[in-house]
Amino acid sequence: MSLLVYIDGKLLPKEDAKISVFDHGLLYGDGVFEGIRVYKSKVFLMQDHIDRLYESALAIRLEIPLSKPEMIKAVNETVAANHIENGYVRLVITRGAGSLGLDIRRTSNPQVIIIADSISLYDPQLYVDGLKIITAATIRNHPAALSARVKSLNYLNNILAKIEGTDAGCIEALMLNHKGEVAECTGDNIFIIKQGIVKTPPVDAGILEGITRNTVIKLAEQSGITVEQLPFTRHDIFVADECFLTGSAAEVIPVVELDGRMIGDGKPGPVTRDLNEKFKELTQA
Ligand code: PMP
Repeated sequence: MSLLVYIDGKLLPKEDAKISVFDHGLLYGDGVFEGIRVYKSKVFLMQDHIDRLYESALAIRLEIPLSKPEMIKAVNETVAANHIENGYVRLVITRGAGSLGLDIRRTSNPQVIIIADSISLYDPQLYVDGLKIITAATIRNHPAALSARVKSLNYLNNILAKIEGTDAGCIEALMLNHKGEVAECTGDNIFIIKQGIVKTPPVDAGILEGITRNTVIKLAEQSGITVEQLPFTRHDIFVADECFLTGSAAEVIPVVELDGRMIGDGKPGPVTRDLNEKFKELTQA
């Protein structure tokens, strides 16, 4: 059976789910999106994702044509219609079709697109061995140019850094901010552990405020671990005991090498393993 895609209020076979070539989502990357996991037929942390989606939209002055409860209903219906037990939801809101100019007043019909599908996961061995990553020369967008807190349809900043990573044989790449501080990876947030303290860049370091990040911070605090959200540099990663990344797709994944330099003893550490376990339990609860 063909995948059913929610578009403009209808569930259509994927072949028929289409938008206008004049949509500013396509012409300018003008729109917002979310990537959400489904575990055991339930949309994981739905409210957090919906809240972030509406905040992203508000930040770019895009009015979503559905209320939050209507959006939640549409997501649940799309997941159910496709019989997704463990999978991934891509929720996209475009600015709508307009003229060949930037003026948002000349656009109409923002499109709500919901795709519920299976997910291609990272190789399970990477969770055992840990990732090797590099630092991209491409820095994260300056927050005064475009806040990284907006999960916008324009991901070129991250894509350019990701290309540097894949060219170097890595599946993720570290991005610094305009101050040279550690920001995040191309599609994941970053954490380090030093002497038992969990550290992650603050939201104002120019990062996407990851929902997995916030969940892991809560899990760490609930187990009595101190979590610091203060700026740090690449130096702090080189001298850290452990490092890991978080994201809806990646979940919690250890990092054992940055720029050819071993982090800690070069193996996933105990705090990372413990937080990974706790996160897994939450997804299966
Ligand atoms: N940073 C960036 C740039 C991302 O695109 C993502 C999501 N793929 C994340 C961090 C992780 O966010 P979340 O935990 O909400 O998936």
